Amino acid sequence: MKGAVHSYLEESIRPYIDLIDTLRSVGIQKDLALPTIAVIGDQSSGKSSVLEALSGVALPRGSGIVTRCPLELRLKKVTGGANWKAVLSYRKKRTEFVDPSFVAGPIKASKLANGKVARPTYDLKKFEFGDPSLVEEHVAAAQNELAGKGVGICDELITLEVMSPDVCDLTLIDLPGIARVPVKGQPEDIGKQIKLLIMKYIEKQETINLVVVPCNTDIATTEALQMAQEVDPDGKRTVGILTKPDLIDRGTEKDILDIVHNKVIPLHKGYTMVKCRGQQQIDEKIPLEEATQIERDFFQNHDYFRDLLPSLNKLSEGKATIECLAVKLTQNLVDHIKKSLPQLNQQIKKMLWDVKNELKDYETGPPEDLKGAKQFLIETLKRFCDQINSLSSGEQMSEENLFVQLRAEFKKWNDHLNSTKTSFSNSKDLSQKNRGRELLGFSNYRVFESVLQEHVAKLKKPAIELLYTIKDIIITHLTDVVSQCFRNYSFLQNTAKDKINNIQLTQQEKTEQRISEQFEMENRVYTQDPIYLKVLNEITNEKFSEDQLPFFDKKCKYSNMLEAYYEVVVQRMADQLPMMILFFMLKQTAELLSTDMLCLLDGANVSELLFEDSEVSRKRKDLRERRNRLSAAQEEISKFFTDYL
Ligand code: GDP
Ligand code: MG
Repeated sequence: MKGAVHSYLEESIRPYIDLIDTLRSVGIQKDLALPTIAVIGDQSSGKSSVLEALSGVALPRGSGIVTRCPLELRLKKVTGGANWKAVLSYRKKRTEFVDPSFVAGPIKASKLANGKVARPTYDLKKFEFGDPSLVEEHVAAAQNELAGKGVGICDELITLEVMSPDVCDLTLIDLPGIARVPVKGQPEDIGKQIKLLIMKYIEKQETINLVVVPCNTDIATTEALQMAQEVDPDGKRTVGILTKPDLIDRGTEKDILDIVHNKVIPLHKGYTMVKCRGQQQIDEKIPLEEATQIERDFFQNHDYFRDLLPSLNKLSEGKATIECLAVKLTQNLVDHIKKSLPQLNQQIKKMLWDVKNELKDYETGPPEDLKGAKQFLIETLKRFCDQINSLSSGEQMSEENLFVQLRAEFKKWNDHLNSTKTSFSNSKDLSQKNRGRELLGFSNYRVFESVLQEHVAKLKKPAIELLYTIKDIIITHLTDVVSQCFRNYSFLQNTAKDKINNIQLTQQEKTEQRISEQFEMENRVYTQDPIYLKVLNEITNEKFSEDQLPFFDKKCKYSNMLEAYYEVVVQRMADQLPMMILFFMLKQTAELLSTDMLCLLDGANVSELLFEDSEVSRKRKDLRERRNRLSAAQEEISKFFTDYL
């Protein structure tokens, strides 16, 4: 590709193509469609040969399915003594192919000017070979890695950037060829898979569809052309390429000319005929430059196709040769970009606005830097401890207030205690049964005591049950705080839950121990005299004084005395148990839990602790990436507008 046409084109088009390439390298195509050229055609129609001729780089080819992943070919014309250079990148890998005599010229400079864009970091491999055909091997290896060895396909993009004085400024995407019948080892639906992949590219309004059709087939029945027509019925963004003009049957030339002249299947952007290297020329290792000359000679010497050649300096009007095609495509692509740019700009602005809004709901996550993350962890843990402490002190005012629930349980306990009160009037029976060696009519304090002991002991089981119930309630509330505070952090959640269970288990044992001790103490009947007297007077509706009490030491009055003392027990237990349980199960637990959780900060592996695996965090990550892409894209576009428009 030499001559005046190109130097003219270069100035006016390079920035547009660069802009789109830059947008693509920030990954914006994940959010919206970018203007691009997709190459489609049946298997062996000559797609790769055309791309090869355009780029000057040997691409994998052969019979059967060779292009198995979309291959983005970015062609960049360089001037200033620069030689040849190619960069292959996919996933996070990057391989450079450098001509030993390559002088970093304007490319480096323009790269630096673009340097603001955050590009992915690559594993960089460098090859210093002058031979462009080496790229072929690497593209094939990349395909093997992405699509697996063999014949499968994959929709991950491989990018090949070629910088050379001999190419035009163009970015194209080579797609797998349409296969009719699966070959050995291919899935039954390979044809469908390939078509779906192709459709994904060509159905977008932003794509110019380059349909490659061999001259020696019945073009009307070509599947590629049919697919293009399906998505672009008016042919506004479809370009036809007729290949293999050297292989046509004699006598069909006129029909083919009709096609080229848009008389058969009319396309807005028309057809171009090209002759690439045939298998024999490849086997003979005829270099691409020579092939260009051979192509020219072929058309020059062809009785029918000679007229398709462009007249001097009107390359864009010609209908044959790779050179014409290159100029035509470049012009088309740039027109296309120009047309879609304002809309693209609007789209990016709107998306950026939307994504920023959406992010607001998700932006509570940890900062990405380690220091910020540590601070975030500290704050998260502190907030957790505050919540736990306000829960334990009953400051939390909510529908499901813990203390509302606790009080309800404690009331049940109180009700139960009340229900166990009895008049002890049937204790005549009891007093007979428990009678000691005393003569009839004499009192025995032991009897009195054992009646009470027996009655009080019955309270132990419900007391322990109360403990269990309260424990469950408290655990539920603590766990709620855990889920609330550590919603996205499963590690913190699990750690906290484990701690709660462990602490509650120890505390429960402690409380059970205390409850048992309480009941052992209750075995020794005791209360203060004034308390006892007060209750006794209430029960009997009398107004005895302390010195009148001996009057009661009669069997017939035992029931009053039992009743009075039991009332004292009930009152004592009604308060004692809840206080004990609250103290051990709630207050101490909260304190222990807070301390334990704060201890996590010691030598914390911040990223492990803040590890997120929930939907929310994934969404936030996506949104952030998206925001970064869109911001970068917007920056690029506004820079472009100030620089070039
Ligand atoms: P793809 O499967 O569409 O990528 O097709 P290829 O580019 O691999 O081409 C298939 C075969 O056709 C190869 O052997 C090419 O050498 C051959 N071929 C491509 N274009 C021409 C051409 O213009 N003339 C001749 N004679 N052979 C061609
Ligand atoms: Mg191919």
